[in-house]
Amino acid sequence: MKIVLLGPPGAGKGTQASILSEEMGVPRVSSGDLFRDHQGRGTELGRLAKTYMERGTLVPDEVTIRMVMEWVDAHERAFLLDGFPRTRGQAEALDEAMADKSGIDVALSIRVDREELVRRLTGRLICRGCQATYHRTSSPPSVEGRCGECGGELYQRQDDSPEAVVKRLEVYFEETEPLIGYYRQTGILREVDGEGPIDEIKAAIAAALN
Ligand code: ADP
Ligand code: ADP
Ligand code: ZN
Repeated sequence: MKIVLLGPPGAGKGTQASILSEEMGVPRVSSGDLFRDHQGRGTELGRLAKTYMERGTLVPDEVTIRMVMEWVDAHERAFLLDGFPRTRGQAEALDEAMADKSGIDVALSIRVDREELVRRLTGRLICRGCQATYHRTSSPPSVEGRCGECGGELYQRQDDSPEAVVKRLEVYFEETEPLIGYYRQTGILREVDGEGPIDEIKAAIAAALN
């Protein structure tokens, strides 16, 4: 199965993608994690992406498409894409890359209200070691500041500051939300309500995929 996850920043894409990937045994990639990995390794791509990410704007299509397609080429049978595509150009590039294979099976859109998105993003904590995601109040780690999976240090992403969050939501509504219409037209869109306990949303996603 080839799935793309759509939804605003904070909708729970990463949280649900990691559950789904484990349960279905399907490899998953987050374009944001790929960029953060490049930054951590100090690559040229990482340095380029950093300036955009700090401002809460999108990294240009050309570099983003090249980076994600490299991963897709290595996992062409089944995958879960979290955070890609985010523009019409990226969606078209993905369709083109899939043209001589069976295409994307499902575009899953997760809907969450703006107020809840801001609450989720500004309280989000990430593990430096394994990228696991926590929330200060709704999914706190059992030991403060430490990842329950790997013991790594938890940190707050610079772009989860209130100012960057406002910008990222604006960019989402302008550039990424129109993709819902794009996938509705091709007939592979499924939509789920992303508000409520993580387990309930997981069940709603499972139902939408069946
Ligand atoms: P995205 O990848 O879409 O940006 P995340 O999966 O990183 O979203 O989730 C954003 C924040 O919201 C994280 O702190 C996460 O722990 C929290 N979160 C995820 N799902 C839920 C939920 N159903 N209810 C409350 N908080 C959630
Ligand atoms: P979130 O799910 O919270 O929005 P991500 O980790 O997916 O965060 O993305 C963080 C940042 O990385 C984005 O604000 C953007 O600058 C960059 N980025 C990630 N994916 C893409 C993409 N598909 N196209 C362009 N920029 C991207
Ligand atoms: Zn960890």
